[in-house]
Amino acid sequence: MKSSISQQEKEEKSMSQRNPFTDALSVLDRAAPHTAIPPWMLQLLKRPSRILVSEFPVRMDDGRIEFFTGIRVRHRNPYSTGAAPYKGGIRYHPAVSIDEVKALALWMTLKCAVMGLPLGGAKGAVVCNPKELSHHELEEITRTYVRALGPNIGPTIDVPAPDVGTNEDVMAWIMDEYSRHHQGETTLSVVTGKPVSLGGSFGRATATARGGQFVLENFIGLAQPKIPQTPRVAIEGFGNAGANFAMFAAKLGWTIVGVSDSSGAVSRAEGLDVPALLAHKRKTDSVVGFPGSQAVSQKELLVLPCDILVPAALEGSITRENAPHIQAKIILELANGPTTPEADEILNQRGVTIIPDILANAGGVTVSYFELVQGNNLDRWHEDKVDQELAYYMRTNTEAWFKILSTRVPEPRLAAYVLALERLVEPMRKRGFE
Ligand code: NAD
Repeated sequence: MKSSISQQEKEEKSMSQRNPFTDALSVLDRAAPHTAIPPWMLQLLKRPSRILVSEFPVRMDDGRIEFFTGIRVRHRNPYSTGAAPYKGGIRYHPAVSIDEVKALALWMTLKCAVMGLPLGGAKGAVVCNPKELSHHELEEITRTYVRALGPNIGPTIDVPAPDVGTNEDVMAWIMDEYSRHHQGETTLSVVTGKPVSLGGSFGRATATARGGQFVLENFIGLAQPKIPQTPRVAIEGFGNAGANFAMFAAKLGWTIVGVSDSSGAVSRAEGLDVPALLAHKRKTDSVVGFPGSQAVSQKELLVLPCDILVPAALEGSITRENAPHIQAKIILELANGPTTPEADEILNQRGVTIIPDILANAGGVTVSYFELVQGNNLDRWHEDKVDQELAYYMRTNTEAWFKILSTRVPEPRLAAYVLALERLVEPMRKRGFE
């Protein structure tokens, strides 16, 4: 069966056999007492507002009918639909679960609040393995998923975007299918992360990595950590977030000492040639076997000698087992939920700074927001404007986070949650129960 879970995927997934939603709730509970959030509001934030699960049939290339599960979770929207849509990516992965999507949707609410964006949090997924599907089958699955979502997405309702296993082609199909069912009117703002030629924003494809770079540079400027001018960086995951970050870091002259993907990992203490590694990945579909590199395991990659570790794959890779052995001084979480609460505690005690996901990878949703603004106004921002605006959002919100971190809540993830909760309280209270 094409959507079966391969051994490799099982192993990938086994790194996070815990429940990311429960983990996320435990951080919320620890952050809440540092804020004036009323108990009813905390209860609201602990529950998604809507979970849509659909089982839909798709005709595969060989004529068989196969069923797929599509999920869309709306978490909370302090502004409510109509004024501002829910926002969050769509993941295609063979082992994605409802609880994982619930966690990802909750993080989107918090992330939008950290960035001060007028959006609610959502996330979606289709249980499938894009690596085992033809281009045509992917298109059929996407179009059927959009029809199953029906009126639950829309420019003022809920606006998807790319995540693991999806890309701008998938976003283009979503836009087209949605438009076909709305009097054929092209509805650009039903989705972000579209191709630039089809109403996408310049800079969206690289936004998560670029935003992460801005956060990191600002943090280094503010905290003056003891790391070299040209730090050594190890990156877990070599997809949209990881590979683009490698490119930006290499442009800064930083040394990329190791990189992993779902097939394995490679390292080179003197630094990997990132453009050549990207070309190798495009050709062979993996970083494994890159000429001049040393093969290491995905687990070894996380504990390589380096200054900055960048998890950019899936949840739960930094655990209580490997946290004591991580050599990096800074962890930049481009992935969502890569660090378990136990690992967080160990790393905090060891003085390793974790720049948390809801800040570190918020560049993606920020440029998605820019794409929405452009789509709604038929506007076209040039690349420099996108980059300048992104730099502004990342800098000001890194400063807001750092202020809480250095004056009130000396735990990086908790400080980001506190920032998010404090920004959610006001609009929710104004609309809410008191
Ligand atoms: P992607 O599908 O483009 O890339 C994922 C990468 O992770 C691939 O290279 C894959 O091979 C690798 N991977 C999977 N399992 C692995 C393992 N066990 N060890 C090492 N590598 C492994 O996805 P992406 O868009 O780059 O997303 C990566 C992370 O960043 C996710 O957590 C996602 O939620 C988060 N994120 C992405 C965006 C975005 O705009 N794309 C925005 C915010 C956050």
